[in-house]
Amino acid sequence: MPQRIFFATSEVYPFSKSGGLGDVMGALPLALHRTGAPVSVISPFYGRVSTSNYHIRLTISDLHVGHPWAPITCDVYETDYHGVSMYFIDRGEYFDRRFYYNTHKGDYFDNAERFIFFCWAAVALIERLGEPPAIVHAHDWQTSLLPAYIHFLRQTNPFWANTGTLCTVHNLAFQGRFSSRLFDASGLPPAAWTMDGVEFYGDFNMLKAGIAYADAVTTVSPSYAREILTEKYGCGLDGILRHRELDLYGILNGADYQVWNPEEDAFLPCHYGLDDVSGKQRCKENLIAELGLDPALKERPILGFIGRMRGQKGVDLLNAIIPDLMELDVGVVALGEGNPVHEARILDLMESYQGRVAAVIGYTEDLAHRMQAASDIFLMPSRYEPCGLTQMYALRYGAPPVATAAGGLRDTIKAWPADDATGFIFTHSSPVEFLEAVRDAVSLWSSNPESWKGMVRRAMSQSFTWDKSCREYIEVYRKVRLRL
Ligand code: ADP
Repeated sequence: MPQRIFFATSEVYPFSKSGGLGDVMGALPLALHRTGAPVSVISPFYGRVSTSNYHIRLTISDLHVGHPWAPITCDVYETDYHGVSMYFIDRGEYFDRRFYYNTHKGDYFDNAERFIFFCWAAVALIERLGEPPAIVHAHDWQTSLLPAYIHFLRQTNPFWANTGTLCTVHNLAFQGRFSSRLFDASGLPPAAWTMDGVEFYGDFNMLKAGIAYADAVTTVSPSYAREILTEKYGCGLDGILRHRELDLYGILNGADYQVWNPEEDAFLPCHYGLDDVSGKQRCKENLIAELGLDPALKERPILGFIGRMRGQKGVDLLNAIIPDLMELDVGVVALGEGNPVHEARILDLMESYQGRVAAVIGYTEDLAHRMQAASDIFLMPSRYEPCGLTQMYALRYGAPPVATAAGGLRDTIKAWPADDATGFIFTHSSPVEFLEAVRDAVSLWSSNPESWKGMVRRAMSQSFTWDKSCREYIEVYRKVRLRL
């Protein structure tokens, strides 16, 4: 594919990250680049993106954007990150903020405006660079307007006539749904304001723009691609997704084993791997000391949870079963932030079970790595999970997951008691079933060390590399280009 592929994303690790999207955007473009595909990434220049790292430099000043009002401009910063050109759109009033999308009080009031601006800035930047791209690949609601803009630009502007578009849904629940008033600021023509376009029960839905107008829609696991066609998981968009079913693909995310590898993870106090797992115990002892847990836990299993403390991740299910888990004589370590009610509850439990439960509220990249390495069992009771990366990391770090039979969890964990099991799966998101599955895991850990070691070894041998996913994306790009 001679022409360039542009990724547009609101997060890209290591420059920005609030969850799995950042990880994926930090890995997939690099993996595509390694296959020879020419990829560039366009992302916001958040306040925390520092020019002192990664040789980021200002390359374009006062680029005219024109939306959500005219005249408006941005600056563009750029760096070469392992062969991938990274472009950062700078407009301080929109992106130089402490958080990406919301504070603890709620979403930023101008999120629609921020990402309308970002999408038009991406259009302006690509035009300024002067070479019509082969593909523009948008990710999640923040950049989902781009396929719609390009759909309409293709009809009038020869520059865009041969550009194909993809929209990848990393989480259907986050849709960028705003008042219809904001449609006027979007710069889309009135023709887009239909049930088959961006209108959604009288509101303006940015993710729906991507689903409706992209040449192909992908999501991040085969199971989730099927689930979102149903009313139960469709978040109100199952109708339009069924309408796009022939152009919908489920491509499993990969894990970036350059970043998540216990053999060389810079955040760990010591390293370990399949050849010698003994370092894992030392990582565990280190975390017990770091979090002030009862030293007796060195001989008992540590159960880890990392993730947004929201209903999706089932943190309420975890909170509900912690008192029962204490009877199993285990330790629980949790890292996350989100809903203040769930945060307060887990902090209460930490108070009640001092030395046995440690909850860290906040976002700490290095601690996430140390928790993976220290955990014997990883808890992922998500109500739905588009793909999930934390369970893939847990597998590699030798912590068999206990997870719901949802989306990507189902696609990445082989369920006990099968001979090739790598973890434990339960079917319904209820505290009773979750507790039952954790009991199975703890019981195997305690009663059958050989069998447990076998499961750990199988877990650590799983490999979700980006190579296969890359091939699948390239195939979708090819199909899209053939249809233009
Ligand atoms: P999602 O994309 O739904 O947030 P994933 O499992 O796909 O879930 O990815 C989550 C990513 O975010 C992982 O890299 C995980 O380690 C990281 N993460 C989540 N919460 C935290 C936190 N509180 N501190 C540090 N890293 C976190």
